Amino acid sequence: MEKETRSFQAETKQLLDLMIHSIYTHREIFLRELVSNGSDAIDKIKFESLTNSSILENNTNFEIKISFDKENRSITISDNGIGMTYDQVVEHIGTIAKSGSKAFKQALKDKNTASEVDIIGQFGVGFYSAFMVGQKVCLITKAPNENNGVKWESQGDGNYTIEYSDEAYGGTEIPIYWRDNDDDNNYDEYLSQYKIESLIKKYSDYIRYPIKLLVTENEYPTDENGKKIDDAIPTLVTNWKILNSMTPLWKKTKETITKDEYSEFYKSKFHDWNEPLDSIHTHVDGSIEYDALLFIPEKAPLDFYSKDFSKGLQLYCKNVFIMENCPELLPDYLGFIKGIVDSPDFSLNISREILQQNKQLETISKNIEKKILSAFKEMLKNEREKYTKFFKEFGVALKNGIYSDFSGKNKEKIEDLLIFSSSNSEKEITFDEYIQKVGDKQDKIYYVSGEDRALIEKLPQMERLKEKNIEVLYLFDKIDEFVLERMNEYKGKKFQSITKGELDILNSDESKKEIEEKSKSNEPMLNKIKELLNEHISNIRLTSKLKSTPACVVTDDNSMSLEMEKILSEMPNMKDFKVSRILELNPEHEVFLTLKNCYDTNNEEKLKTISEVLYYQSLLTEGLKIDDPIEFARKINKLIVS
Ligand code: ADP
Repeated sequence: MEKETRSFQAETKQLLDLMIHSIYTHREIFLRELVSNGSDAIDKIKFESLTNSSILENNTNFEIKISFDKENRSITISDNGIGMTYDQVVEHIGTIAKSGSKAFKQALKDKNTASEVDIIGQFGVGFYSAFMVGQKVCLITKAPNENNGVKWESQGDGNYTIEYSDEAYGGTEIPIYWRDNDDDNNYDEYLSQYKIESLIKKYSDYIRYPIKLLVTENEYPTDENGKKIDDAIPTLVTNWKILNSMTPLWKKTKETITKDEYSEFYKSKFHDWNEPLDSIHTHVDGSIEYDALLFIPEKAPLDFYSKDFSKGLQLYCKNVFIMENCPELLPDYLGFIKGIVDSPDFSLNISREILQQNKQLETISKNIEKKILSAFKEMLKNEREKYTKFFKEFGVALKNGIYSDFSGKNKEKIEDLLIFSSSNSEKEITFDEYIQKVGDKQDKIYYVSGEDRALIEKLPQMERLKEKNIEVLYLFDKIDEFVLERMNEYKGKKFQSITKGELDILNSDESKKEIEEKSKSNEPMLNKIKELLNEHISNIRLTSKLKSTPACVVTDDNSMSLEMEKILSEMPNMKDFKVSRILELNPEHEVFLTLKNCYDTNNEEKLKTISEVLYYQSLLTEGLKIDDPIEFARKINKLIVS
């Protein structure tokens, strides 16, 4: 087949452009990315050879090699891993994975809100990082049992070439031809033994295969005892020098590992640009033995809350890689956790089907879940600010854990980890902190959902609650109220929306009696208004919970709130979904007197118009849409001129 010239997928080209122009300090990670790819490729061939030893072609000295040429300004990184076929090169190099590509387009659209670094970071820079230092990058590769190798080449512009090649030996070789220096950029610094050694130490020390650098060193002649001979002239020799210690980080004892080492390991292993928020490292001995090294990322990947996201931990057996994403090791609500589990208790060629029913895996997964949850609890207790940051990013995942579990088991595990904004505190609080504060004075936990603090605080119901200093939790996430509905109660205290039911806490026995009496004496009028608003409301009543507002709309205690209606009606096929509404009137308000006046003078037309305006304005204050704003305006105008 002839040499082909092909174009990069549009998103890849955009990603490349971002990367080439990315800031100088990030460039050095190119080495980490390519070495990690080499190590992954060796993991893969080792794993495949367990069931098909012929693919090794007598190649069992797995290694990653680096050589550099200062004069010709190039660095070559090679591995003897799995390599790629022609089709795999086309598929993997030059395209962003499908799920990523959708999210990437979105990220570019939202570029004003996310910096370039964020965008690149969330995609994992991978192979393309070579273009941050190289003006031309080649990839020469051969997959086992293939007759031909493949040569790929690109200058990082829109195109690449690809052809069959006999240069390839088995594995992958990536020569990078360096960019020219200019006034702002000095690319030469990487073309030195010292720099390469220090980058490998910094980023790739734990890689389990030797990373060898071709170095030219002075060798001094020695005498028969191996002692250097004074004044003898050294000769220049070239040697492969091993640069990394090769101990997997998870096998080292916790106390000997620095925060930086965890951080570098995380970034290189999971291709993240950001530091991890925290790490959890455990070794378990006993009926089951395993090491787990887990990380809480700082940021959720762009596709995290989409159905394309796949969770899972990397699985190793005695240091040998088995699987990239083992979903059985994590419950869905902890799907954002990254990490590895290494256990000698698995057989190496364990298949997916066996894994799914594997008792050991189940036990490990349960232990890991507990471990992660207790790490969250610790963070919540001792590092509140950090926890708040974490919760902003992943709180919805935890809440989903409660919402999607009908058994109630997740509720017990997660309820103490939820934090919410509240009327009486600038910082988010837990349910437990809420009930500590209210003690026996309240048998309910009050909450309200809405878009933001400012809107919620203007709700008519809030006025008297604030006056009486009753703390209300503010729910801003769409899922929140559904979660509280599912939970029903916390430590014996029921959840109560302030926009549902009678809100007894605001009514003293005295005021209740007063309302009862007023309701009785105004019964005919209330019945009339109910009849006039028949198509909108299911009931009408007087309330003492309002102060400066004449009316509000609430729903029944046992039904959904209006906020939930709003969320549900945004879903496909739910447009017409409506909960039945109760109109509450404030008998102390001037408007109430006007209503009475209309009723007493038999002015039914005006009574109807005012009632409708009250109903519609109550919906608007709750942040709900009204069906016919023009009609609403017409009614107001009618009242103005009346
Ligand atoms: P990532 O490593 O995050 O998947 P890359 O862009 O670095 O992204 O690589 C894309 C894919 O190309 C890899 O998943 C792998 O399948 C393949 N690949 C990259 N480098 C190598 C290599 N040295 N040997 C074999 N396959 C490779």
